[in-house]
Amino acid sequence: MLQVKMMLKKNESSVKTITLGCRFNFYESEMAKAAVQKMGVDGDVVFINTCSVTHEAERQSKQAVRRAIRENASAKIIVSGCAVKTSFDYFSNLDGVFKVMTNDEKDSLNNVGIVKDHNQFFENRARAFIQIQNGCDHFCSYCIVPIARGKSRSLPLERILDTVELFDKSGFKELVLSGIDITSYGKDLADKIELADVIKAILESYPSQKRIRISSLDPHSISPALFELFADENRIMPHFHLSAQSGDNSVLTAMRRRHNRESVIKFCSKLRAKRSDVVFGCDFIAGFPTETDEMFLNTVKLIDDAGISMLHVFPFSPRSGTLAAQMIQLPKDVVLNRAKILREKAQQAKLKLFHNMQGKIVSGIIEKCENGISYGKTDSFISFSIKKPLSTNEIASNMLITGYTENELVLWSDVP
Ligand code: SF4
Repeated sequence: MLQVKMMLKKNESSVKTITLGCRFNFYESEMAKAAVQKMGVDGDVVFINTCSVTHEAERQSKQAVRRAIRENASAKIIVSGCAVKTSFDYFSNLDGVFKVMTNDEKDSLNNVGIVKDHNQFFENRARAFIQIQNGCDHFCSYCIVPIARGKSRSLPLERILDTVELFDKSGFKELVLSGIDITSYGKDLADKIELADVIKAILESYPSQKRIRISSLDPHSISPALFELFADENRIMPHFHLSAQSGDNSVLTAMRRRHNRESVIKFCSKLRAKRSDVVFGCDFIAGFPTETDEMFLNTVKLIDDAGISMLHVFPFSPRSGTLAAQMIQLPKDVVLNRAKILREKAQQAKLKLFHNMQGKIVSGIIEKCENGISYGKTDSFISFSIKKPLSTNEIASNMLITGYTENELVLWSDVP
């Protein structure tokens, strides 16, 4: 969620999207073209989806908007995303901004009809995302999301199923259910349903839907019914990403997270006992205020203790308006050094996984093919290449892992 990336893409209807922030923002930006068309804007448009999760993210968002104005003099600049909530006046008063769109306006434009407008975001029809939940009620001490995005809201089940039907008919092979705090799904709905019920309804209504993925999970809120599904349902792909954030319980308390390190270890080991091919990923924040060297080492240790292989590491940076910004901050060099140590550990954990996968036979989805080499993701969401021309969106199976490289790709070949 704290990821800060930037993407610039020009699509068919003269709408460029520039996206900062989380995967969720990337999803929303791809809805921008249709949303802009609904607004009836003529001419070239640049749609910038901003992020405010940290000061740095907000600074980059402002910089991206100023650059877009400079580089697209004749285009209409529309600014949206979380930084609009925190810096509405800044963007409104910027010369060259055509419209500042709040997240609420964007939500009301992003309805199920819009998802008919497939485009490259859907990764050449390999993978489709459905945003089933938005907002958050938790107020973790470092996070601006509840202020920027408001309370948790769930997409009603019938709307989700309509969207799945659309994707199903369009031939998408993988379905990703996403949300800001996806395990809160249903708490705001009159029928008290939960995420597990949504997944069950999709699996029952669309037996052809063979590959479902779930976005980042809050370890505290994985219900027994959800765990059972993860453990027993092979149509849920064996890759789970947890928003662990720290491996030290006192830091987790200071973060106002609701889980502890033991619950992360228990979830991973119980699920691994049921599904030996499962791969775990986690988000971690390095250098949170109050974190001592010893506490930080508990995070490093958690990677081995829980068997986590794919890490997203974020050096802590305070976000004004949050509790953590009022705490005594650690020196910047300490924060950056801890992030570096965690990233090195992340690389080791990943290579250890790649090494242990040697000789295994796996399946995966092909995302693209270039010069006779096909690229894709395993069921456990690891990037791979295979020296064989295969079709995009094809499910390739019975493949032997024969090697790997430093740059995260696993090399494959056909089973003889
Ligand atoms: S659960 Fe915590 S970190 Fe996640 S969006 Fe809500 S407040 Fe932010």
